Amino acid sequence: MPHYTPPLRDMQFVMHELLGVVDELKALPPYADIDVDTINAVVEEAGKFASTVVAPLNQIGDREGCTLDKATHEVKAPTGFKEAYAKYVEGGWPALSSDPQYGGQGLPHVVNQCMFEMLNSSNQAWTMYPGLSHGAYECLATHGTDEQKKRFLPKLTSGHWTGTMCLTEAHCGTDLGLLRTKAEPQADGTYKLTGSKIFISAGEHDMVENIVHLVLARLPDAPQGSKGISLFLVPKFLVKADGSLGERNPIFCGALEHKMGIHGNATAQLNLDGAIGTLVGEPNKGLPAMFVMMNAARLGVGMQGLGLTEVAYQNAAAYAKDRIQMRSLSGPKAKDKPADPIIVHPDVRKMLLTARAYAEGGRALAMWTTLQIDKELASSDADVRAECADLVALITPIVKAFLTDNAWISTSHCMQVFGGHGYIGEWGMEQFVRDSRINMIYEGTNTIQSLDLLGRKVLGDNGAKLKRFGKLVQQFVEDEGVSEEMQEFVNPLADLGDKVTKLTTEIGMKAFKNPDEVGAAAVDYLRVCGHLVFAYFWGRMAKVALAKLDSGDPFYKAKLATARFYFAKLLPETAGLIRTARSGVAPLLELEEALF
Ligand SMILES: Cc1cc2nc3c(=O)[nH]c(=O)nc-3n(C[C@H](O)[C@H](O)[C@H](O)COP(=O)(O)OP(=O)(O)OC[C@H]3O[C@@H](n4cnc5c(N)ncnc54)[C@H](O)[C@@H]3O)c2cc1C
Repeated sequence: MPHYTPPLRDMQFVMHELLGVVDELKALPPYADIDVDTINAVVEEAGKFASTVVAPLNQIGDREGCTLDKATHEVKAPTGFKEAYAKYVEGGWPALSSDPQYGGQGLPHVVNQCMFEMLNSSNQAWTMYPGLSHGAYECLATHGTDEQKKRFLPKLTSGHWTGTMCLTEAHCGTDLGLLRTKAEPQADGTYKLTGSKIFISAGEHDMVENIVHLVLARLPDAPQGSKGISLFLVPKFLVKADGSLGERNPIFCGALEHKMGIHGNATAQLNLDGAIGTLVGEPNKGLPAMFVMMNAARLGVGMQGLGLTEVAYQNAAAYAKDRIQMRSLSGPKAKDKPADPIIVHPDVRKMLLTARAYAEGGRALAMWTTLQIDKELASSDADVRAECADLVALITPIVKAFLTDNAWISTSHCMQVFGGHGYIGEWGMEQFVRDSRINMIYEGTNTIQSLDLLGRKVLGDNGAKLKRFGKLVQQFVEDEGVSEEMQEFVNPLADLGDKVTKLTTEIGMKAFKNPDEVGAAAVDYLRVCGHLVFAYFWGRMAKVALAKLDSGDPFYKAKLATARFYFAKLLPETAGLIRTARSGVAPLLELEEALF
C-alpha cells in the first residue's frame, strides 16, 4: 500500500518563509488575530486526519467503486467512505474557511488550501465529495437570495449536506450554449426542471442526508446560446422553511459511469423529471453566476494535480532508495550490497526530481494564488482587491492546466521509477496515474484553459493582467539582479519574461489577421507562462534557501538543489514550446478534413 506523509515542513516554508502569510493576513480585517502557531496547528491536525483516516481508503475505493441500486436510485459509496466523512464533519473540517455567520470558522483560505492538498494526496475520489461543496457554497454566498442562504449555507458549511455542479449534458460539454434542460416557472415562484445531466461528480451518494445540486437550465423564453442559461438550486430533498427535510425531489440517478480512475467518486447521470428548483441570481445570467463555482473548482482541480504529484513523488523516492538494480556507471556506491539502489542512476534521479520540482513549485504557486484570494475577498483597500482579482483571474487557468499536466507527467515518471512493479496494482502507483488523467479533462479541458488564458485573460484586455504579474517578475529581477549568487536564477527568468512579452505581441498581431492563430498557439503558450510563473517562484525559493544555507538545516540544501534542477532541466522546455507556438496555424490547417 502506498504511504503518505503530510509535507508540513514544506508547507510551513512556503507560508512563513517564502510568502510571509501571517503579516499579509494580519493586514486584512477578518484575520487581524491570526498567528503562525494557529495556522501550523490546524494544518498539522488536517494532515493527521488526511493521512490516517482518508488515505487508507484510497485503494479500497479504487477496487470497489460505487454501486447504484436501480430500484431506489440510491448510490452506495465504497466501504469506509461514509464513516470517514462523518468524522470529517464531526471534526469541523468542512467549515474551516467559511463565513462565521453561516457557522464557519472564518480561517483564511490559505489554511483550507493546505488541507485540500493533503486530502487530495490521500484520496482524490473521496475528496471530491466535500470538494464540490465549497464551490457550491461560494456560488450561493455570492448569488443566492437571503432565503437560499438561510436554508442552505449552514448545512453546506457544516458538511451535513454536499453540493454538486450540474452543467454537462450528453450533447454539450465544452459548449454550454447548447444545453437543453428546461425550467418552467410555477405559480409559487419555483421552477420545474426537466432534462438529463451526465458526468455529475458526487451526483448521488449515501454519505449525507441531502445533496444540493446547482443546475444550469433554460427558461421557456430564453435566447439561444450561452446568453439564455439560468442557474437553479435543486435539492435532492426539498427543504422546508424551518430547515427540516421535505419530499424527495425527482432528480434521480439513472446510471453511474465506469471510468479510468477516481472509481471511489460517483460520476452520475441525473434525470430531472419535473424537479423543483429555485432561481439563483438573475434569469439568463446563469453562466456568470456559475463561474464563481467553476473558478473555485478550477483551482480545486489544480490542487488535485498537486496532491497526486506529491504522493507519487514520496512513494517513488522511498522505493528508489530501497530497490537495488545494477551498478552506478561511475562505480559501485553500495559496496556491501550485490547492486546499487536505483537512486544512483541519473535518469531515475531525473524522474524523481521532475516530480519534486513540480510538487514544490506547484505548492508555492497554489499557496500564493490562495493568498491573493484572501486579499481579494478581505482587503479594505479597493485597489488591492482589484489587483488581486486580476492576478487570480490570470493565474487560475495556469493553476488548473499547468499543475494537472505536470501531475500527469509526474505520476507517470514516478510509476516508471517502480519499473514493472509500478504497472501492477499492488504498489498503488498506477492508480495515481489513472486518477490524475481526469484532471486534464474536467472543469474545462486544458485546451479550454489555454484559450481562456491567451484569448480572454491576456489578449482580451491588451495584456493588462499579464503586465500586473510581469511587474512582480521585473521587481524581483531588479532586486536580485545585483546578487552574484542569484545570477543563475535571475538571468533565465528575465530572459523568459522578455520572450513571453515578444511572443504575446507576435500572436496578438497574427490573431488580427486570423483568429485561428490563437487556437494554434494557446496550449504551448500556457505551458510557457506556467514556466514563467514557476521560474519566478523557484527564483524566490532559491533566494530564501541561499540566505539560510549556513543554518545547517538540510532542508535549504535540498531546496537549492531542486531549484537548480528546475532551471537546468525543466525550464529549457520553453525554447521548444516558443518555437512551436510561433510556427503558427498553417501546419495545422494544411491537411484537408477529408484526408484525416
Ligand atoms: C469523471 C468526470 C467527472 C465530471 N464531473 C462533472 C461535474 O461534476 N459536472 C459537470 O457538469 N460536468 C462534469 N464532467 C464533464 C466535463 O467537465 C466535460 O467532460 C468536459 O468539460 C469536456 O466536455 P465533453 O466531454 O463534452 O467534451 P467536448 O466538449 O465534446 O470536447 C471534445 C474535445 O474537443 C476539444 N474542444 C472543444 N471545443 C474546443 C475549442 N473551441 N477549441 C479547441 N478544442 C476544443 C476539447 O478540448 C476536447 O478535447 C465530468 C466528466 C468526467 C469524465
